[in-house]
Parts: sequence; structure tokens; C-alpha cells
Amino acid sequence: MTIERVGVIGAGQMGNGIAHVCALAGYDVVMNDVNGDALTAAVELIGRNMDRQVAREKISQEDRDAAMARISTTGTLAELGQADLVIEAATEREAVKDAIFAELVPHLKPETILTSNTSSISITRLASKTDRPEKFMGFHFMNPVPVMSLVELIRGIATDEETFKACQDVVERLDKTAATAEDFPAFIVNRILMPMINEAVYVLYEGVGNVKSIDKAMKLGTNHPMGPLELADFIGLDTCLAIMNVLHDGLADTKYRPCPLLTKYVEAGWLGRKAGRGFYDYRGDEPVPTR
Ligand code: NAD
Repeated sequence: MTIERVGVIGAGQMGNGIAHVCALAGYDVVMNDVNGDALTAAVELIGRNMDRQVAREKISQEDRDAAMARISTTGTLAELGQADLVIEAATEREAVKDAIFAELVPHLKPETILTSNTSSISITRLASKTDRPEKFMGFHFMNPVPVMSLVELIRGIATDEETFKACQDVVERLDKTAATAEDFPAFIVNRILMPMINEAVYVLYEGVGNVKSIDKAMKLGTNHPMGPLELADFIGLDTCLAIMNVLHDGLADTKYRPCPLLTKYVEAGWLGRKAGRGFYDYRGDEPVPTR
């Protein structure tokens, strides 16, 4: 099937990036969020991010204007009914995603492919509660979407080959590269990355190092472009905690237990960059470590 119209659910950090790259690749994009302010902020942010690409001569002004004109927003899931492909990128909570799919599915065309950008939740389980497990996939972008070239493609147990191929074609048209992962908790990237971030929080919790020394050690000692705590703030501490909980529950191994300090930061609402504070405080000119 040809995919021309893409529905994006969730206009947060990931949703706005997904809408951005899809619109630039020529897809018509309808973006949905329960929060109207998030939709307004997402369109403004996409505009600013595309302006930066124009300034760096990565895209032309005409490409930018045409892409922006292809993006529309709605607070109503029913308005995604004409989409050929839906990419769900709402909050990392299974109950939220289940409720979205339950409300959306009756409005979809039978051939529409349904995907989730989930970082960790079982694709097979999400799919099983929809009317189209064979047309359901994990479509996992990396943050920031316009910059990162990888998309993890995850088949559920029932996903058919046609759906997988159609998603592979979309990844190619977005000028990104796909890596295929099997449907086990947190797939490949986060199965490896999140325990490292969680361990960095344990190192902080146990007083082995402070925020600055941990990030400096990992940046200069392992050549990572960002330290693990800086990266956790960038991803969102609520998302990091949700992924650790999925690993802990799904693999039933205590090595995945979330660090209590990570839980405490989330309870405080210190969710990282998007909240203005996490392991660093971003409210001033320069990020200041909180410990
Ligand atoms: P975010 O908190 O920035 O945005 C989530 C958005 O979902 C918010 O705007 C919220 O209003 C919206 N939302 C919540 N409930 C909704 C509903 N019922 N209907 C429509 N919209 C709803 O989160 P994010 O970082 O963009 O993460 C979104 C998804 O992408 C999660 O599944 C996450 O695991 C995944 N992901 C995140 C990253 C990352 O680095 N942050 C990377 C890859 C994948």
C-alpha cells in the first residue's frame, strides 16, 4: 500500500520530531494531543527547528514552507481516520496507549498501519488489544528525531510481512536507517542504554561521584558525547523510570531494579530538560548540577 498521510499521536519531544521529519519527507501529517497547548508549542518548535535547518543550508526555504503547510493539528482522534500510517508517541504508560488505540481504531480504514514509538512496552501486547495485530508494529525513533538516523523496527508476534516492508519503506523515505529488534522488553537500544543510565543514578545515590564527576568521567573516559545523567535529563526521567519498570517487570531480574533516587526525582516532578529541572537545573543561563 502507498502511505501518503501519517497520523502522529502525542506532540511532546518525540511527536514533534516525528511530525517534522515526516512532513519534510513529503507526507501529509495530522498531529494529535490531549493538550492543546502541547500542539501549539509543537508547531512553533517545528517551525523554529526547520528555520535552523534553512540557516544551515540543510533544506531550502521552499522545502520548509511546503513541509510546514503539510502539518495540521487536532484534539480529536477521529480526525486521524484517513491516515495510512499512525505513529503513536504519547506518554510511556501502557494504560494511556491502550486507551488511545481503543478510541482510535473504530475510525481507521481497514488497511491503515498502526505503530507505537514506545521505548519499552510489548508490541505484541499493545497489538493484541487492537483489531489489527497483523498490521501493528513498533516504530521506535531516537531523540532528537531530526538528528538521529536510527529507527528500531519491532515486529509483534502477529505482524505480517507486508506491514514490516511498508514500515521499512517509510524509514527509507525519511532518509533514516532501520535496525530490526525482536519484541522483548525495551528492545535493543534501551535494553542496553537504560541499565547504564540507572547504574549512573546508583553511583550518584551511593555517593561514588556527584553529577558533574559522573558525566565528566563517562564523557572523557568512554568518549560518549553526553554523560549518562545529562542524557537521562534529555530523554526525560519519567520515561527512564517507566523503561526500567518495564525491564524489571518483564524480565523479572533484580539487576533491573530502578534506583530509588530516580524514583524520587520523578516524584518531585524533576523530569529533566522538559520540566526545567532534573539532575541539572536548567532555569538559569547554564545548567547547574542538583547534587
Ligand atoms: P513527552 O512527555 O515529551 O510527550 C508526551 C505527549 O503525549 C505529551 O504532549 C502529552 O500531552 C501527550 N499525551 C498524553 N496522553 C495522551 C493521549 N491520551 N492522547 C494524545 N496525547 C497524549 O514524551 P516523549 O519523550 O515525547 O515520549 C513519547 C513516547 O516516545 C513514549 O512512548 C516514549 O517512551 C517514546 N520515546 C521517547 C524517547 C525520548 O528520548 N524521550 C525516545 C524514543 C521513544
